Amino acid sequence: MQTRFVALLGALLICIPPASAAELADSVKQDYDEYLADLWDHFHRNPELSLVEFETAKRMAAELRAAGFTVTEGVGGTGLVAMLENGSGPLVMMRADMDGLPVEEKSGLPNSSVATQKDPITGNVVPVMHACGHDVHITSMVGTARQMVARKDDWSGTLMLVVQPAEERVIGARAMRADNIWGRFGTPDYALAFHVKAGNLAGTIDAPEGPAYAGADTVDIIVHGVGAHGASPHRGKDPIVIALQTLVSRELSPHAPGVVTVGSFHSGTKHNIISDRAHLQLTVRNTNLETRAILLEGIERIATNAGRMAGLPEDMLPEVIVSDESVPPTINDAALARRLKVAWAKKMGEDAVLDVPPKDMGAEDFPNFTVDPAIASVYWQIGGTLQEEFDAEEAGGAMVPSHHSPLFKIASEPAVRAGVESTVVALMTLMGD
Ligand SMILES: [Zn+2]
Ligand SMILES: [Zn+2]
Repeated sequence: MQTRFVALLGALLICIPPASAAELADSVKQDYDEYLADLWDHFHRNPELSLVEFETAKRMAAELRAAGFTVTEGVGGTGLVAMLENGSGPLVMMRADMDGLPVEEKSGLPNSSVATQKDPITGNVVPVMHACGHDVHITSMVGTARQMVARKDDWSGTLMLVVQPAEERVIGARAMRADNIWGRFGTPDYALAFHVKAGNLAGTIDAPEGPAYAGADTVDIIVHGVGAHGASPHRGKDPIVIALQTLVSRELSPHAPGVVTVGSFHSGTKHNIISDRAHLQLTVRNTNLETRAILLEGIERIATNAGRMAGLPEDMLPEVIVSDESVPPTINDAALARRLKVAWAKKMGEDAVLDVPPKDMGAEDFPNFTVDPAIASVYWQIGGTLQEEFDAEEAGGAMVPSHHSPLFKIASEPAVRAGVESTVVALMTLMGD
């Protein structure tokens, strides 16, 4: 009796009939209607800030355990790792980030967040919103877990689901690596992740065969000078002249995109005092590791030589500090991306697979999982904006809001369904019969 009850409970938890890949779309739709829609609603109403995703992590652990995974919590802070060993074959990692942002939601969605939380950095209580769509990522991960358990007979290998904290501060992946994620759970043969994207048509997939996101380095330059009275500049060393822009305009190939932005400059206290110190805060962007090296080495060279030109002694040359909050570019393995795109087109339709080149220099911390050691990886985009919203913008109505905006909005059903479908197809391509 008891055994039958437990079996019945298990059947209720995983009520997805095992299905062939052709039935995948129907199966995911059914699971969305019966289960995932409510789960997304819950996550959307209850966002949490980077590093304090306590309730989100707890819920994800419960969901993935209920689906049949072995879950370890507290990996790199609030992160968790869910494992499903299913015979011989590759170890494939799928990552979802789970943090929200300190933004007050004004999307107009019926389940808009009214949550607030104490910001661990500032100590202030702030409104919190899933203004980047990470709620879609974790909801889709639960859908993927349920599908992969239901389809266990059709694949073999080990599936590692990674729920990552603090992506918005680009420190969560590094924290999980520092907590020895590969040593404890194995180094993956393949690593996968996706981001939902406002501005791409809902339900579509876009996977560049190369750079998907820029690298972003946070650099501080401390320039030391010799202070003086403003009326006697010959008695000081004015530290405030550095030509960093020539790096991008004259040292990079015109085909290698790069950005060097000095976002903040602090020096001096008064009109007529030449300061003895300047502090520049830079963000440096690139789309490949060679460009990154040219820019970072170039900044160091220009800064120190500017100090020498000003006649500063060697022990007073400018200091260049590359912060820990830096990420390399996200670069897809071209062959693997092509392989997955063929599979997606076959299983989800040619029209679902886009080829939109990245338009900006946004960054991601996923490469902290994939660069050292190098792991073949693909990072793709799932479109989250309905056609009617593009039409409205075209007709002079509201613009499609961007990520991190209070107006940010994702059409959850097509996005979650495409998130689950594309992930299951990718995993089956790598681990299926
Ligand atoms: Zn974001
Ligand atoms: Zn994001």
